[in-house]
Amino acid sequence: MGRRTQRNRRIVQFILMALGGDILLLGIEAAAGLNPFTDMAQRPILYVYVLLGTVVAFGVFGAMVGSREDQLEQMALRDSLTGLYNGRYLQMRLREELAAAKRYHTPVSFVLFDIDHFKQVNDVHGHPVGDLILQRVGQLIQSELRKGEIAARIDCEEFALLLPHTIAQDAAKGAERIRETIHQAALDVGSGNKLAVTVSAGIACTTDHDVHSADPVYRIADLALYQAKEQGRNRVVIAQQKILWQ
Ligand code: GH3
Ligand code: MG
Ligand code: MG
Repeated sequence: MGRRTQRNRRIVQFILMALGGDILLLGIEAAAGLNPFTDMAQRPILYVYVLLGTVVAFGVFGAMVGSREDQLEQMALRDSLTGLYNGRYLQMRLREELAAAKRYHTPVSFVLFDIDHFKQVNDVHGHPVGDLILQRVGQLIQSELRKGEIAARIDCEEFALLLPHTIAQDAAKGAERIRETIHQAALDVGSGNKLAVTVSAGIACTTDHDVHSADPVYRIADLALYQAKEQGRNRVVIAQQKILWQ
């Protein structure tokens, strides 16, 4: 649910609940045979007190529920290790962006990053150090993002970027910037130790392949990523335009 929808829903809840206390009081009086409107005119302070009391009580309650809802929503959309979006969210956004791209004939690029020889990092330095590397790589990717770009950790040591309105060559420039940043960074893995890792990337762009569904876009990017690995790693490869998928 979007932030605006959530906020509007909370405002409606708040107004309904704030009026609830007074309506309830009027109802009880009517049921007891009193004329609630006369009573309201005679005891305005009591009614203002009830109104303000319910506004404060339900306002605080609504804010608490709302912030908890936000937290839960974020937890459902985020990868717990890196704080980036998770694969589920990326899939959802990819579908939306692909549908929009098809409708408006705009390009969408999809970049897959995979850390090179990551198994060795785990084997040599241990799994906790591997996790720290994943976190640092996630931070570096996030730090290089521009407005409207989405980064996610979609699998073990695999990250993805969704770049709406972006042709492959521009996606490659962004991916290259990220690759170089990670290559240059000595990642702090605690106790004063620093480690260097590299990443490879594969890029698919909707307009190059005329594909507008998530699976083929992913597979084309994955094939380009495989080529980047084959060609020696620590590089970015744009999928060749001729790959056809049904
Ligand atoms: P390549 O350059 O071809 O990508 O080689 P690689 O070693 O990176 O690739 P491979 O797929 O063989 O290894 C991925 C490793 O990622 C295997 C597993 O030990 C590790 N891994 C997967 N998930 C996690 C995780 O959450 N934390 C840590 N520390 N390691 C993980
Ligand atoms: Mg991998
Ligand atoms: Mg790898």
